Amino acid sequence: MKVLVINAGSSSLKYQLIDMDNEGVLAKGLIERIGLDKAIIGQTILGKKSKVEERLADHSAALKVVLDALVGQDAPLKSIEEIDAVGHRVVHSGEKFCTSVKLDDGTIADIEKISDLAPLHNPANLMGIKACLNILPSKPAVAVFDTSFHSTMPDHAFMYALPYDLYKDHQIRKYGFHGTSHLFVSSEANKALGGKKSKVIVCHLGNGASLSAVVDGKCVDTTMGLTPLEGLMMGTRSGDIDPSVVEFVMQKTGQTIGETTNMLNKKSGVFGVSGVSSDFRDVLQAEKDGNKQASLAIEMFVYRVKKYIGSYMAAMNGLDAIAFTAGVGENSPILRERLCKELDGIGILLDDKKNQATVGEFGQISSKKSKVKVFVIPTNEELVIARETIKYGFSK
Ligand code: AMP
Repeated sequence: MKVLVINAGSSSLKYQLIDMDNEGVLAKGLIERIGLDKAIIGQTILGKKSKVEERLADHSAALKVVLDALVGQDAPLKSIEEIDAVGHRVVHSGEKFCTSVKLDDGTIADIEKISDLAPLHNPANLMGIKACLNILPSKPAVAVFDTSFHSTMPDHAFMYALPYDLYKDHQIRKYGFHGTSHLFVSSEANKALGGKKSKVIVCHLGNGASLSAVVDGKCVDTTMGLTPLEGLMMGTRSGDIDPSVVEFVMQKTGQTIGETTNMLNKKSGVFGVSGVSSDFRDVLQAEKDGNKQASLAIEMFVYRVKKYIGSYMAAMNGLDAIAFTAGVGENSPILRERLCKELDGIGILLDDKKNQATVGEFGQISSKKSKVKVFVIPTNEELVIARETIKYGFSK
């Protein structure tokens, strides 16, 4: 079976074509600047890379480019009919969907209704869905949500201490994001632990960053909230702050609410504190060069991840494993070392050599003395979407 995985943003379309017989990637690509002067089309088809520029009016035009590239002599398909199903990343499920869902007029209308919870993302995801349904109307299509892995959180974890009517009337609560990554990495960690009952903390540390606490495969808490702004300090997002900061900043600076929210999402975090970059590699280099703000930004990031690790150990009454994933978690031994430093008091101890040697690949990096196992597990969100597409696309 061949599954096309689509991740549509407001002006971008990312895709993978996966052969589910061996879970191999036949083709992948990223089209950026859709609807602007010239789109940038980067693709790898059967291992062959290409990059071209061309004006693409909308997501339908972008999808046509993708399908044209997938079919032909030096391409993985003889006809688009060989695509068995299409899986779409959708950011927000609200409380409507606890699992992935097969797309039809009814479920699409439901996702449209949820859009006020993710106004920047769900409408863009829907553009990809509609473009696919126009071109491949007879193929099963499935929405796989960033939020649904976290739907198992108990109410005492997902509720905000606000007037209850705000939850009842407007579903204002913690939802969590990066769910496909947390699902993949926690289940791989569980396998590595021998498939027994387990308590795992997944540290998804990329430009966006979130932790989840997972007991026996089920999420019991996560750091992101109603939106991805809550929780850890991130590349450009502030993470947790006192909510009163918002009004105070507006009074002091004259910024509007929109400008202040934009500041919290795009100008804060590691970028805002360091004044250097949102990219950890640049900030680590600046720290090496003696930049104090860069050093402070890294220390704050590390301290906050450690605090959440401790609080999730308490929430789960124990911990079997920590799994690092995403850009920083997979590729930065130095940040993993700093994240685990002085956690020996709570049973977490790295093997320095294994940590240094494990970059971008699976590995167990804890020392033999460590009570808690520490893994590096490369995430694979597209594969989760493809697996979910098979599971939900062909069920009655
Ligand atoms: P992601 O959002 O998962 O693609 O991760 C992107 C983030 O990972 C960026 O902030 C990068 O700086 C960071 N990253 C990638 N490789 C490294 C590395 N070798 N060392 C430190 N940070 C890295």
